Amino acid sequence: MISLYVHLPFCLKKCEYCDFESHPGRLMELDAYIDRVLGEARLSRAEYGNETLYSAYFGGGTPSLMSPEQLKRLAGGLFEIFPPEENAEITLEANPGAVSEALLRQAIASGVNRLSLGLQAAQDRLLKLLGRVHTAREAAEAVDMARSSGFQNISLDTMLALPSQTADELTRTLEYAARLGAEHISCYSLILEEGTPLYNRVRRGELTLPDEEEARFMQLSAADTLESLGYHRYEISNYAKLGRESRHNLVYWTGGEYLGLGAAAHSYMRGERFLNPNLDRYMAGQRHLERESVDAAGRLEETLLLETRLTRGIDLNKFERAYGSEAKQKLLRRARPYAQYIVVSNDFLRFNAEGLMVHSALVAELASAF
Ligand code: SF4
Repeated sequence: MISLYVHLPFCLKKCEYCDFESHPGRLMELDAYIDRVLGEARLSRAEYGNETLYSAYFGGGTPSLMSPEQLKRLAGGLFEIFPPEENAEITLEANPGAVSEALLRQAIASGVNRLSLGLQAAQDRLLKLLGRVHTAREAAEAVDMARSSGFQNISLDTMLALPSQTADELTRTLEYAARLGAEHISCYSLILEEGTPLYNRVRRGELTLPDEEEARFMQLSAADTLESLGYHRYEISNYAKLGRESRHNLVYWTGGEYLGLGAAAHSYMRGERFLNPNLDRYMAGQRHLERESVDAAGRLEETLLLETRLTRGIDLNKFERAYGSEAKQKLLRRARPYAQYIVVSNDFLRFNAEGLMVHSALVAELASAF
């Protein structure tokens, strides 16, 4: 079984906060890019053998900029190489300002069964500030279009701790997402990346970010709001109706293997991490750079970092099988002084809501035991 991430690095315009591998104005390269991705998938099959597909995620960039024919060719080609299992989760990321009903219908016909739409905020002034190419109403229209095209599993992305965003606006955004009937809602804190236009505006003092306490309050209130709307928190920033947790993202958070195809895509396969180069170098034929093998110590560090993001926490039996009973005892001993943040029950070690607020600091404490 294999999980695929497929990166489509094309956008209509660059958002103000974006430092992903994404390029406006290069859509004419999409056909050649799809050829290259399919070629890479065939090479990967030769390297890793015939595998069935557990999950796939078409991310970007803006994958919904593909034409229906391009999506049909890409998805059809990939699924011939790695045939999906019966319950495979196949997600397409879409921008509400760059999606058509024809594409969504083709997505369903091609086997896509989950749509991830970037709502970000329900206030057009915030969307404008972020440089998004859509309004809140267009996001609602995209959800309607997706439903009428046959999507029964829709995730909406939202953001918190935006410049000038109030806690009340965040609540209204989450309520808006719930009213649209999303099965899954992500709510990520804005990460201000150096060099982006938004970063420069904040640095020049033109925009102010919520301070640490306000951001913390927003995170707690997002969790409360979403729980009260029927979404259970299963990861620091992800909430779902029961049974609608993202299978694909759970692969990342539980240390599973995944293969990244396309420019700048990351992979973790057969105990090795590697990544693909940017669009130009990828199109010139380069792939799988910065290969590094992950030893047991590295895997343990990642378990601490990733599985504690999950509200169910670290599976202590699995931990013991992977790293030994001495390591498990060390972990439990190190966790003991933090009983106000860390709960151990039913063979799981998990961070409570307060613990998730100080996630990095707690992980550093736990890691110091090894
Ligand atoms: S749509 Fe996404 S990838 Fe494209 S510029 Fe905006 S944030 Fe970046």
